[in-house]
Amino acid sequence: MTEKTQRKKFDVLIIGGGVVGTAVARSLAKLKLKTALVEKEVELAFGTTKANSGIVHAGFHNEPGSLKAILCVKGCDMFPQVCEELDVPFKENGVLMVATSDRELPLLHKFYEQGIQNGVRDLELIDRDRVFELEPNLSRDIVAGLFAPHGGIVSPFELAIYQGVNAEKNGVEIFLDAAVENVVDRGNYIEVATKKGTFEAALVVNCAGLFADDIAQMVGDTSFAIRPRKGEEYLLDKRVGNLVTSTIFPLPSENSKGILVIPTAHGNLMIGPTALEMQEREDLSTTQEGLEVIYQSASKLVKGISRRDIIASFAGVRAASDRGDFVIEFSKVAPRLLNVAGIESPGLTAAPAIGEMVLEMIKDWCKDRGIPVEENHDFNPRLPKRVRLQDIDDPRLEEMIAKDRRYAHAVCRCELVSEAEIVEAIQNGARTLDGIKLRTRAGMGRCQGGFCTPKVLQIMARELNVPITSITKRGGDSVIVPYKTKELI
Ligand SMILES: Cc1cc2nc3c(=O)[nH]c(=O)nc-3n(C[C@H](O)[C@H](O)[C@H](O)COP(=O)(O)OP(=O)(O)OC[C@H]3O[C@@H](n4cnc5c(N)ncnc54)[C@H](O)[C@@H]3O)c2cc1C
Repeated sequence: MTEKTQRKKFDVLIIGGGVVGTAVARSLAKLKLKTALVEKEVELAFGTTKANSGIVHAGFHNEPGSLKAILCVKGCDMFPQVCEELDVPFKENGVLMVATSDRELPLLHKFYEQGIQNGVRDLELIDRDRVFELEPNLSRDIVAGLFAPHGGIVSPFELAIYQGVNAEKNGVEIFLDAAVENVVDRGNYIEVATKKGTFEAALVVNCAGLFADDIAQMVGDTSFAIRPRKGEEYLLDKRVGNLVTSTIFPLPSENSKGILVIPTAHGNLMIGPTALEMQEREDLSTTQEGLEVIYQSASKLVKGISRRDIIASFAGVRAASDRGDFVIEFSKVAPRLLNVAGIESPGLTAAPAIGEMVLEMIKDWCKDRGIPVEENHDFNPRLPKRVRLQDIDDPRLEEMIAKDRRYAHAVCRCELVSEAEIVEAIQNGARTLDGIKLRTRAGMGRCQGGFCTPKVLQIMARELNVPITSITKRGGDSVIVPYKTKELI
């Protein structure tokens, strides 16, 4: 990633390196524009994108005609291809919403009608027998279901990271640890002051998630506000990963989709999230009350969920807007600022479609001003396939070890991650322990890094040629080993 800049000029500057900003970057790489992305954290995907349920929603939850509905359905349809191109874990496991009493049936039917209006493919109302045929471990209280076979699950952070890597390989410049401090509309260009210097751009795309309203306000745009809503989630051991196949939804409440039981793209099961309106945008704490609500609700849906299987907990904060829908529009106050804000759920699902929508808006913006924009015929949507020890069979493993001995060295034993994969993650931009974890899963298993952390740190120090004491968990002052110990030297 590009490290330093003075005053640099770009056609388009994207603020925010989450799943939305990187999707926009990848889409814009299809044009011959000079594009850059600035991100305040030291790595991509460290915002809301790293802490969510990873569901590719089918699109029956949202009101017909809303941007959420349109972009969710379009995004869901794009996932198989995007994830294949970027080699990101994705599975079309299906989404199943269940009614637990006859009283809930009218609402279940409403979601069916809504889904049909939204264009959800192969959506089906199913009776009790079919529900249990699909999911034998569901609670016996369930009376009917709504099944969307094309809903899926994805590794959200890998999607964002590899969208970014792909955008960069296609010419987009990425500046990390470059928090935007001020934005000024100078009339014929827009000026963005960051921690890494000042940028000038013809257009700025504001994908700053929880802080998108702060960015808009820098140019006097108060047309929307972010209303943060926290969600706690609990990850269960892979031992119970097969309790359900589809993602199980109850009927939703007013401000959330309810507590879900979610298979993950890596074979775990997850339960959550809660939905708590709050002021604080970066409070990622989990609570005993949150756990209780989630555990009780999830147990009502699926039999066999036990607290003892919980291996990790986390929280993410949704960047809901006060308009109730995504805000994707040019600012009326600063016409060179394109706000892509309020991207709460289903923002992960919608991200690839948002990227394409922004691409079209920018093409139109240029056309209206007589600015020629050429297609980038060299754009390559693909990234090379990455080897994952966990997914390969013995003959292939032997072949890989013959080429590179580092595949024989299992660094993370819970998730079966080899030294070669850690090194590849570093080559793909990982600079922190969390960056390695999000790319490889080292530290995400049952022991939560108890075994592999020292080994990962040693590999990072060696590959990056830095002292082990300078490596952080996620940037800033989150140093892991403040001084060298005998074991780590
Ligand atoms: C608990 C939970 C569960 C969810 N589950 C799902 C789901 O299953 N399916 C789904 O489709 N959606 C889900 N969502 C929503 C989804 O996670 C978000 O819509 C999506 O991650 C938003 O991506 P983003 O890029 O807009 O935001 P972010 O990932 O937050 O990215 C914004 C980036 O901007 C950066 N930034 C902020 N300020 C500045 C600045 N001043 N200068 C430079 N950079 C800045 C941040 O550091 C951040 O990296 C869930 C959300 C939560 C909280």
